[in-house]
Amino acid sequence: MPSIKKILIANRGEIALRIMRTARELNIQTVAIFSEADRNSPHVRFADEAVCIGPPPSHESYLLGDKIIEICKDLGVDAIHPGYGFLSENASFCKKVIDAGLIFIGPSPESIELMGDKLTSKHTVAKYNIPMVPGTPDAVTDRATAKEKSLEIGYPVLIKASAGGGGKGMRVVEKEEDFDDQMDRAVSEAITSFGNGAVFIEKYITAPKHIEIQVLGDQHGNVVHLFERECSIQRRHQKVVEEAPSSVLTPEIREAMGRCAVDVAKACNYYGAGTVEFIVDEKLDFYFLEMNTRLQVEHPVTELITGIDLVKEMIRIAEGECISFKQEDLQIHGHAIEIRVCAEDPKNNFLPDIGTLNTYVRPEGNGVRVDDGFEQGMTIPIFYDPMIAKLITYGKNREEAIAKMIRAIDEFKISGIETTLPFCKFVMKHEAFLSGNFDTRFINLYFSPALLDGLPNPEEEKLAAALANYLITTKKVSVQAQTNSQTVLKTSNWQANRLSYR
Ligand code: ADP
Repeated sequence: MPSIKKILIANRGEIALRIMRTARELNIQTVAIFSEADRNSPHVRFADEAVCIGPPPSHESYLLGDKIIEICKDLGVDAIHPGYGFLSENASFCKKVIDAGLIFIGPSPESIELMGDKLTSKHTVAKYNIPMVPGTPDAVTDRATAKEKSLEIGYPVLIKASAGGGGKGMRVVEKEEDFDDQMDRAVSEAITSFGNGAVFIEKYITAPKHIEIQVLGDQHGNVVHLFERECSIQRRHQKVVEEAPSSVLTPEIREAMGRCAVDVAKACNYYGAGTVEFIVDEKLDFYFLEMNTRLQVEHPVTELITGIDLVKEMIRIAEGECISFKQEDLQIHGHAIEIRVCAEDPKNNFLPDIGTLNTYVRPEGNGVRVDDGFEQGMTIPIFYDPMIAKLITYGKNREEAIAKMIRAIDEFKISGIETTLPFCKFVMKHEAFLSGNFDTRFINLYFSPALLDGLPNPEEEKLAAALANYLITTKKVSVQAQTNSQTVLKTSNWQANRLSYR
């Protein structure tokens, strides 16, 4: 069995650091690559060796597969971990890595290829009787047929890019009159984003939950699942809050989804870490969406509830070892929540915000994990994903994880850039989230920027409490009023606002 001694991480930021940390625990040397925009990044300093790969744009740096392989050869690297994004789901890069005699820490190029296209992936898993959203089995090109099919499926329908990812190339069509227009948009977005205009049609599930299952396979045919992650709080079909376990799944449905996910993995001879995504309707019927053949952004919540280091397993699997545990060894312990702290303005349609982290103070303490790749004073480059950090909390149950998250959000001090932190606090306090009765429409149904103005902030709370105390001790208010919450309400309008969204 090959033993990996040196890994190059073909990525940047938080995920590069996260992978390097596990590598170091395993006494494996690390090599960072970085673009000119990331010269001062923590992942560059953390690595044992670091190589500048080019100018800031991804296609001149992090996407230069051949150059990355050359660097590996020059530095005596044994294996490449691609992280997520960039080259992680690029089958031809994966093949080149293997052909160069290196280890790709991930699945085979064949698995990536099969699952990289939504339609091909549906065909691949068909023999396993996996529940699918009703839809066209193949790409639609002819409009008349497409409309006929949509009528058969029943509006609303979703037009989806077969090569899609990151929520792009997806259009909801509410009624037949809108079909042509939305089809044009979906096709043109698919061509621009993926260079492939193939689209298909699916029934649009109107109150959908996004629930996914983490799987791990090894090169000896063993596949296990590590339970689910609930990722329904999304903007632009992209996740902002994730948690494990889901608060709505019964043990029976969890078991059935887990079995299905393992079958999906087996259908493409999967090894490494992967995620099988499902959409779940109001009756808790679930349907296969797609498989992501890489480590996901939200993998830490699974690590916290299972105690498994997914990157460690990936490395061991890539070395040819068997998965270090059996399905029956796994149990869910406690509850974990992750929020994506992005340089985005929730008051401005979550548009990316640019600037410098004038203040950047991480939360700490019991049950808090921060995976990030920035430090105070750094500028968020416009060339890449706007995620600054992942804030993850863990508690013995969901209530405790939420309480820790609210405390940690209050402790997270960021200035100079607008972030998703206030929005995530809004989510943590919202009745729908607290009850577990929410779906991917959360933002549409409950959120408006004005509600963020009413969010209490801890400084204001402290000030209000001090003021109330002062009024009481100086007897400026009567004893009767001390027990009347209206006294505090009058000192500041923060609490009144807070009551409005509870
Ligand atoms: P991508 O690969 O672009 O992320 P997915 O197929 O994984 O696309 O879907 C992303 C999100 O879009 C899902 O999490 C869900 O919110 C929504 N979605 C996808 N398919 C459907 C559907 N058939 N009905 C309702 N919502 C859907």
